[in-house]
Amino acid sequence: MKIIGNAAILTLGEKGFIPDGAIAIQGETIEEIGNTEDLRKKYPNAEFINAEHRLVMPGFLNAHMHLYSTFARGMALKGEPPKTFGEILEKLWWKLDKNLSTKEEIYYSAIVPLIEGIKTGTTAILDHHASFGLIDGSLDIVERAVLDAGVRAALCYETSDRWGKEARDASIRENVRFILKKKKDNITEPETLTAATFGMHASLTLSDETLEISKGEADKLGVGFHIHVAEGEEDVEDSLKKSGARVVERLQKFGILGDKTLAIHCIHINEKEIDILRETNTMVVHNPESNMNNAVGVAPILEFFKRGILTGIGTDGYTPSMFESVKVAYILPKLHYKDPRVGGAESQKMLFENNRKIFAKFFDKPVGVIEEGAYADIVILDYFPPTPFNEGNAFYHLIFGMRDNVVNTTIVNGKVLMKDHKLTEIDEEAVMAKAKEVAKKFWEKMQND
Ligand SMILES: [Zn+2]
Repeated sequence: MKIIGNAAILTLGEKGFIPDGAIAIQGETIEEIGNTEDLRKKYPNAEFINAEHRLVMPGFLNAHMHLYSTFARGMALKGEPPKTFGEILEKLWWKLDKNLSTKEEIYYSAIVPLIEGIKTGTTAILDHHASFGLIDGSLDIVERAVLDAGVRAALCYETSDRWGKEARDASIRENVRFILKKKKDNITEPETLTAATFGMHASLTLSDETLEISKGEADKLGVGFHIHVAEGEEDVEDSLKKSGARVVERLQKFGILGDKTLAIHCIHINEKEIDILRETNTMVVHNPESNMNNAVGVAPILEFFKRGILTGIGTDGYTPSMFESVKVAYILPKLHYKDPRVGGAESQKMLFENNRKIFAKFFDKPVGVIEEGAYADIVILDYFPPTPFNEGNAFYHLIFGMRDNVVNTTIVNGKVLMKDHKLTEIDEEAVMAKAKEVAKKFWEKMQND
């Protein structure tokens, strides 16, 4: 048992903000919330973590990530720079995922951002994986990295037709295999940290046949999909050409949408498509920095909120940091609509409330909230507010006062992964040195491709 005491607790749950309190953790879950003295008396043998009046809150949840994207960092592309989103996919991402072909490449590209996530307070991730050079078993390698890091993640493989039928079949097989593996009844700690869903790239690289087969398999397994939707105009043009229907309509026709499906981005969609997302209770995930970087446009987030679509927030591999992502989500609509009143309520709800609801579809106990019975996924922050702090203005303290380096301690599943800014379970220096070695060889392979 552990007690985090002398803590200013932002529960993001029914208990609101507790200016001076304590959290008792039993195994992987939160046992009790109370005051420090009482809990220490009640559980005298518990290990005591003194928060020293720091801010304690649930760890951040990243609702869309590509752990495999790491080795693109700093990489120069051959030839003219990509002019369009389609060219970015072809010249960078598809080339990168085709060349990911060894266990080491997949493992080290995954563990680097997992470590950076721990350091910036991210305790759970919905990941979308692609490594077309090594498909079979690749999710086990990502899972190994997740378990070694000690964080929580739901994984999937990016099904696509872009590398031919054999690779398509292998992608579907990999999703099915991993989902079945996670469905076994005898899963024990720490394997309960990971979950599975069915991954698909995007309408523009998915044939009718692939959508049909994937839907059949997902239905048998009782899972939904994790798919990019209308991220670029290319996706809309392709869908109209292929089917005469827009992206959301096409996916709806094949039964891809629904309350277990994550529709990522949803930028180029019209009113009718927003209605379909609402009617099917499909979840949407917003990734503002990635969208700006790819120059694909601004997602109609304000509309999603007006219509009551469950909209969360992720990073899309652009960064491991949810601080970064939410700060941009906060500021982007203000610039886009030239209206300083918009963006605050929406970005707060995405980070503090909707991500929690989204993650509840993938894990058996609550995350993203400090309450009895929830997983003990908690961060302790070096943040001592210089102005009054309460439940109502906490989000604005985060936007204007906190950044990555405030994360002092990260706890996942009741286990301390970082204390006083130092990782406790992983030799960070050794991992980063090895990653650099693997990445160097990977770059040579990319250059010769
Ligand atoms: Zn993505």
